[in-house]
Amino acid sequence: MKSTLNILCLEDMADDFEWINYTLKKSGLPARTTRVDTREEFVAALHHSTPDIVLSDHALPAFNSIEALALCRTHDPDLPFILVTGAVSDEFAVNCIKKGADDYILKSNLTRLPSAIRAAIRYKTTEREKRKAYDAVEVQNQELRKINHELDTFVYSISHNLRAPMMSVLGLIRLAKEETDLTTLHQYHGLMETCVHKLDDTLKEILDYSRNARHQVLCEPVDLRKMINDTLEKMRFIPGYERMAIRVNVTGPVEFYSDPFRISVIVNNLISNAIKYQDELKDHPEFQISVEVSEASAVFEFEDNGIGIHADLIPQIFNMFYRATGKKEGSGLGLYIVKEAVEKLNGRVTVHSVYGKETKFRVEIPNQLSINKSN
Ligand code: ADP
Repeated sequence: MKSTLNILCLEDMADDFEWINYTLKKSGLPARTTRVDTREEFVAALHHSTPDIVLSDHALPAFNSIEALALCRTHDPDLPFILVTGAVSDEFAVNCIKKGADDYILKSNLTRLPSAIRAAIRYKTTEREKRKAYDAVEVQNQELRKINHELDTFVYSISHNLRAPMMSVLGLIRLAKEETDLTTLHQYHGLMETCVHKLDDTLKEILDYSRNARHQVLCEPVDLRKMINDTLEKMRFIPGYERMAIRVNVTGPVEFYSDPFRISVIVNNLISNAIKYQDELKDHPEFQISVEVSEASAVFEFEDNGIGIHADLIPQIFNMFYRATGKKEGSGLGLYIVKEAVEKLNGRVTVHSVYGKETKFRVEIPNQLSINKSN
């Protein structure tokens, strides 16, 4: 309990209020009491004086304890409320307790007031702690339900994504064993290589997913220009890369501090998608990457004039294993991992796309520069 209690008294009789003060003082209960006697004053005091307990008379001119109790419960379900009144019927008192009052004290027997205040505060504090614990468990349960659901989908889809290329490789090996023509054998090897790359891509995505979910978030300087250029360099061999006009523009007067691994996962996936989903029918496939770094954040924009995404599929593209096109192959994990990584960094990712025309992903990540400075 606090060393000095802040007690709000709804009481129209100044003498009764004095009597309450006297009783509290005599019992040695340290308290600061405030008297109000209208609805308006009561509401204002609830909001501004943050009382630890309310003591309420029953009948006041144009206001009463039942209304006061209802206001009190709406304001804070854990604020203790004791009815302190002249003679009321037992039935009325029971009704008040049913409606949520913690106790009722007759003015003719105020000696019980200090112990009733202590008991009500103890009870409500325990209730508040219980509810906090319950809410925390509920949040954890929701998180567990989400993880369970994702795990089910994950196991199903990953086993499919791993098995499909493996089965193809086995089929190709069987064919190769019987084959004597060298050119056909080379074709089989080429196909096997593609399947193994697919397996490797899926395994890399699983690793990124798990690393993002488990590893602690770091705060280090991130050289965005170098990271983007290195990523583009690694992607040179993706079919169609050489057709694209790619422009990179990183601006900002300050350094960017964040988690290099998660930033690289985001950059990697959004760059590879722009290359993969370019429109082969367009003469001039273009891709612009711009980043603006400020003290507060880094804002990335990945803009391409590729195949675009159907408007009604856009809301799903960040879901696990969701694919919005059959034109190119993929696991449907990339954007899900991007969203998870962005969330870990307390950032935001949004997309704007026009089917057949263009796609723009905008990612905003807080710059941890100030946190780094203060450490
Ligand atoms: P994947 O590329 O493996 O299918 P992603 O999660 O990376 O999985 O993307 C989900 C879907 O979003 C893709 O199937 C594709 O339809 C769409 N998409 C993502 N990026 C682009 C882009 N830059 N242009 C057009 N469509 C895109």
